[in-house]
Amino acid sequence: MRESNEKMRQEFTANVSHELKTPLTSISGYAEMIETGLARPEDVASFGQKIHSEASRMLRLVNDIIQLSHLDASGSTHDTPVMEPVDLSVIARECAERLKVNARRAYVTLNFRGESAQVKGSPSLLEELCQNLCDNAIRYNRPGGRVLLETGRTREGHPYLSVQDNGIGIPDPKDRARIFERFYRVDKSRSKATGGTGLGLAIVKHIVAQHEAELKLESEPGQGTRITIVFENADKSDTIDH
Ligand code: ADP
Repeated sequence: MRESNEKMRQEFTANVSHELKTPLTSISGYAEMIETGLARPEDVASFGQKIHSEASRMLRLVNDIIQLSHLDASGSTHDTPVMEPVDLSVIARECAERLKVNARRAYVTLNFRGESAQVKGSPSLLEELCQNLCDNAIRYNRPGGRVLLETGRTREGHPYLSVQDNGIGIPDPKDRARIFERFYRVDKSRSKATGGTGLGLAIVKHIVAQHEAELKLESEPGQGTRITIVFENADKSDTIDH
């Protein structure tokens, strides 16, 4: 067990170094061309833009790594985040509002539909979870596509949150089994071109585990993807009090 943890840590460090090295190499290259005067004056603005976008990608990556390391630390010390009553519909509605601009930019419509669904959870982690799932549903979509955020209760009465898109889907079952791994991407160039870090779903998986919830993935090639998070029934303890 310790050995496999050690191996995973080594792999993660190697991946992080590689992911950081690529944008840094290109930042350094463009900056040097401007510095030495090798860049023609008419190229300076576009090189500046490239430096800016690579630096932004590094920032997103570092933020995701920090987030994961917080989640790792709280998992290993059993120091779980403060859990309080949260209505998933409030989280989902706000998330839809926040991401509407991104969706519009990708010519995708983003809607929320659902009923109040109370869980015990961490509002900030659930916001992050919702944002990561919606972000993917927008990025792995097509112009004219749709994203639907839903909350409610399953037939068995469990609160759930789901994000459904009619985007490109994940055709290969082998990929479907692995997308929650750190840095695993189906199409690396598409992920990078749309600003992905390869860590969004690894963060989602961690947050789901901290909430002792269950994660379901359905995906049809060319039809789209739906990810549903099903929670324990938070109302149980409330009803005993009454
Ligand atoms: P990334 O930053 O690359 O999007 P994620 O961890 O969020 O990293 O997702 C891992 C991979 O899973 C993505 O690179 C993409 O190939 C695939 N993926 C995630 N969400 C979807 C979706 N809604 N539709 C199709 N593919 C998806």
